[in-house]
Amino acid sequence: MTFPAGAMTGWSTVVACLPVDGGRGIVVDETPFHPLDPFWPDQPGDVGLLQSDGLELKVVDSVTGAVPATGGEVLVGADIPVKRGDPDWHWLVVHVVERRVPQGAEIRLMVDGDRRRAFSAGHTACHLTALALNAALAGRWRKDAPPDGLGRPDFDRLAITRSRIVPGGSVDTYRLGRSLRRKGFTTEGLADALPDVAGHMESLLAGWIASGAPVAVEAPNAELTAPRTWRCDLPDGVARLPCGGTHVDDLGELGRVAVTLELAQDELVVETRTA
Ligand SMILES: [Zn+2]
Repeated sequence: MTFPAGAMTGWSTVVACLPVDGGRGIVVDETPFHPLDPFWPDQPGDVGLLQSDGLELKVVDSVTGAVPATGGEVLVGADIPVKRGDPDWHWLVVHVVERRVPQGAEIRLMVDGDRRRAFSAGHTACHLTALALNAALAGRWRKDAPPDGLGRPDFDRLAITRSRIVPGGSVDTYRLGRSLRRKGFTTEGLADALPDVAGHMESLLAGWIASGAPVAVEAPNAELTAPRTWRCDLPDGVARLPCGGTHVDDLGELGRVAVTLELAQDELVVETRTA
């Protein structure tokens, strides 16, 4: 897989063509296409084009596939019956196209670059926002909580229930239930404090972006399910988060990042937008 390092084009060989919802699924040796992760579906699958022998095919979606190592049918998305990265299964990117391509064909793969760049910016902004949220909420912890890479209580990791990357931004949902309060997080007065929290976050974000800090995705190998880590060398320390998505190369690419916080009952929704 070449997408973790930011690749958007490549040449490869078709190793399988299988029926999937919405058409045919093409599997190749090596791909720059990022597939949706069914276990943590934050960043949508890439779309783009495949070219082979004068033939051009639209890739309408990219999904995660898995097949038992002992052989059998390739299952995709929610049909995969095992846990993410199960070593007894092979893990694949399935490119959803409308027509079949013969096995063994050499093809050129091209991700829709504008859409990918918008998701990469949104995904990097999402992780930065999580660090800024941890910092802005740090004073609300009465007990020691496990720290994030910058040494602040990791509210993001303890409370997040859902993350959706959108073009140029993200929408993250946090649960402020009894279990978080038992861990020492104070929710009293949070609704009234939200404008201050957002202001604090935006000023941290502006400083980080102004630093133009480099961003990288670290991976122990090129397997689809390798445990990859987002790394950003911020002025206040090196931040690391587990991440299966794609990112910008440095924070200078983000421009201004704005956040909106909304509290509804036990849920805090944080919306991030880059401009
Ligand atoms: Zn991520």
